[in-house]
Amino acid sequence: MLTTVAERSILLVEDEQKIADALKLGLTENGYEVDVAYDGAIGMKLFNKQQYDLVILDINLPGMNGYELCRAVRAKDNNIPVIMLTALNALTDKIEGYDAGADDYIVKPFEFKELLLKVRVLLKRTSQQNIPVGNFLKADELEINLDSKEVKRGNIAIQLTAKEFQLLEYLVRNKNKVVSRADIALNVWEIDFDTNTNVIDVYINYLRNKIDKRFNKKLIQTQVGMGYVLRD
Ligand code: CA
Repeated sequence: MLTTVAERSILLVEDEQKIADALKLGLTENGYEVDVAYDGAIGMKLFNKQQYDLVILDINLPGMNGYELCRAVRAKDNNIPVIMLTALNALTDKIEGYDAGADDYIVKPFEFKELLLKVRVLLKRTSQQNIPVGNFLKADELEINLDSKEVKRGNIAIQLTAKEFQLLEYLVRNKNKVVSRADIALNVWEIDFDTNTNVIDVYINYLRNKIDKRFNKKLIQTQVGMGYVLRD
């Protein structure tokens, strides 16, 4: 059966006009509708005005930097995929980007093909998430609604960021199974992390604070030297 895919729209916020224009051209040629802002504050204005399927942000921007913009985007929409462009391959940049709610990052200079691939992967994931109806995952009293992205433990609603949600979803899909940091990096962040990064441990802690801290039974457990397991 043939399915038609509606044109997906992308907001691109990048102050280097040459890069922005080249990316817009490439993405447009690949069937995406692209709005460009050369300034962070203008990017946010566009985001507030229009419906986008994905956001690509540079970090160093006039008006409002990429991290601030990413946080503001996340505050409005927990699910929209965000890719950050960074000039430096610094670990702190990546961690700060993920903390701000980015789903992925790309280091300049990059091949357009690499960016296109990331765009496709992230858009595919969100369109798949939108299809099923009444889709729940459960572990003990924890309930994840894959459609509305609501998380509850017992009767208590839990607010998660997009990345925390993805991490929890991965742990629950693999409940009672020990998953390594490398498994998590590959499946949740879709990249191979530098081996000494602690970003996964940092996110596990965020999740523990939200889903386990106030409950006697701790679902997320550390398996020393092996990784993590969510047990129900
Ligand atoms: Ca810049």
